Amino acid sequence: MIVGLKCRNCGKRYPEEPVSICEDCFGPLEVEYDYEKIKESLSIEKIEKGPNTLWRYKDLLPVKSKVVDLKAGFTPLHKADNLAEELGLKELYIKNDSVNPTFSFKDRVVSVAVSKALEFGFDTVGCASTGNLANSVAAHAAKAKLKCYIFIPADLNLGKIIQTLVYGPNLIGVKGNYDEVNRLCTEIAGYYDWGFVNINLRPYYAEGSKTLGYEVAEQLGWTTPDRIVVPVASGSLLTKIWKGFNELVEVDIIDEVKTRVTAAQAQGCSPVVTAFLTNSEVKPVRPNTIEKSLAIGNPADGYYAVKVLKESMGTAGAASDEEIIDGIKLLAKTEGIFTETAGGVVVGTLKKLVENGEIDKDERVVIYITGNGLKTQDVLADYLPSLIKINPDLNEFNELLKKKTTVKEVAI
Ligand SMILES: *Cc1c(COP(=O)(O)O)cnc(C)c1O
Ligand SMILES: [Zn+2]
Repeated sequence: MIVGLKCRNCGKRYPEEPVSICEDCFGPLEVEYDYEKIKESLSIEKIEKGPNTLWRYKDLLPVKSKVVDLKAGFTPLHKADNLAEELGLKELYIKNDSVNPTFSFKDRVVSVAVSKALEFGFDTVGCASTGNLANSVAAHAAKAKLKCYIFIPADLNLGKIIQTLVYGPNLIGVKGNYDEVNRLCTEIAGYYDWGFVNINLRPYYAEGSKTLGYEVAEQLGWTTPDRIVVPVASGSLLTKIWKGFNELVEVDIIDEVKTRVTAAQAQGCSPVVTAFLTNSEVKPVRPNTIEKSLAIGNPADGYYAVKVLKESMGTAGAASDEEIIDGIKLLAKTEGIFTETAGGVVVGTLKKLVENGEIDKDERVVIYITGNGLKTQDVLADYLPSLIKINPDLNEFNELLKKKTTVKEVAI
């Protein structure tokens, strides 16, 4: 029940078209809904009877026709007692979005955007990507039988390049950082009549992230947590989770939202965190970190992300490269979940904010793990123990065990 688009800055309305920027003030356009109408037909029972994908919330998404569906969404919410104990928290949950079809949360936004591209009649889709978006757009384009052009920084992790190429898109590595790739892509989008999921289709794309708000509320028995920790690249995901929570109040599904939203970035690229902590404008930076999927130096929704942090009385923090690696290892060792660097950012930031008392031990906390560790294995190679090798011989194993025990005893 989409009404159209509306400028988030000046409020000017636009019809439902593939546009993303206001022609008057250059503000970002956002999808508008008729919540009164949605309220009439939507209920908890209806949602719970829906498919086990993000499309169970179709009434609150901007797609009318058939959807391009690789079964993204409705991912597990783990009660993370081991990690909670390690950090000294009482109640901690992990929203594990690393188990989506292409192993990151981007499948949510792309499923919506590529469905919308079909609705608009595009025969080609594309994107500028820091990696995960490339994987997801390539996969959904394959499923939808659309032509596909994807632009990435040429120095991306090998895992993400292979996981894009396998779906058969036209993949172009641009010699530059993401912000330069994005600038080129915006120029290309002006030349060709293609659906770029994060450029001219961006208002629709962004709506897919709201489902990470709906799902957590549903999985917590239709309540919202006291605190969420969200990784930030462009800032879109963070603002849309907040929008999702608040829409549930709007349509009478939950009573109130009392969630403090917390942003997590890598120290080597933290324009949103810095703007919040110094109470200033978001200033572009040049990324320098092992964390590539969040490495957007000039975040399109940075201003709105900071606004949500303030409005929700939340906070923000950043993790160093070392803390990112430690965060990845800590999550794996305590909860059996292998995340990519973005998840390391989230765990590292959470740890810091609990240690310095900014996150209270009694809060009910949900952290968003948005990408899978198999995508960025290269960053871990130097930080894990080397492989112990033996001959296929029982004695040799017994000897090894003895040695290990001795070492352990000595260490204690
Ligand atoms: C894209 C991405 C995000 C967040 O992106 P936004 O641009 O802020 O919406 C978070 N985690 C991972 C792993 C991502 O790929
Ligand atoms: Zn405007």
